[in-house]
Amino acid sequence: MTNDKIRVCHLYGNLLNTYGDNGNLLILEYFAKKRGLDFDIQLVSIYEDFNADNFDFVFFGGGQDYEQQIVSRDIQSKKEALIHYIENDGVFLAICGGFQLLGEYYISAKGEKIEGIHALPHYTVSQDNNRFIGEVEIFNQEFNETYYGFENHNGMTYLGEGERPLGQVKVGYGNNGKDQTEGVIYKNVIGSYFHGPLLSRNENLTHRILDMIVAQKAKV
Ligand code: GLN
Repeated sequence: MTNDKIRVCHLYGNLLNTYGDNGNLLILEYFAKKRGLDFDIQLVSIYEDFNADNFDFVFFGGGQDYEQQIVSRDIQSKKEALIHYIENDGVFLAICGGFQLLGEYYISAKGEKIEGIHALPHYTVSQDNNRFIGEVEIFNQEFNETYYGFENHNGMTYLGEGERPLGQVKVGYGNNGKDQTEGVIYKNVIGSYFHGPLLSRNENLTHRILDMIVAQKAKV
């Protein structure tokens, strides 16, 4: 393993990639290269193994309910390896549908239960004939940072024990439109409903993620 290369897994990047979620990887690559780090992206999709030892960073984007169904069925075979990666402090960014699938389940707009991998204890229910759409702004007190984005989701997510929100909602809906939480932080996992993509509008978060990756690589 070389220390000057970030080995990236783009999980189901060919199925879950709405609103240009993969732009997050372009931004990370841009700033990684500025730090003199190479950036190597490997797509891991259906019928393929996820090997936790092969990666320094995992990115999991969002998508429509139909694609989420397909991914939900396949990802159960990768569940153990993904939980192992997360519990060993692997750095992970999950957006919207990806964020939902890391949790217990997602009830789709049609009322079907889409199973998550239970890596994190949040769950997502659907709202009737409505979506949370629009600009969103949140504040993270721990880091004293504000993040800006765009959200578009039917799901209402409720965080569980041991999960902290990525920020407190100042503008927009966030996880569920009720408790003012947006996204999640658990170990080195960051989840969010922000599309847009998240990192192009939030350079502070991009540097935070790169710092996490570098710190984690230094440990191994
Ligand atoms: N299909 C999910 C929802 O509507 C996720 C949407 C997304 O990833 N944008 O809540």
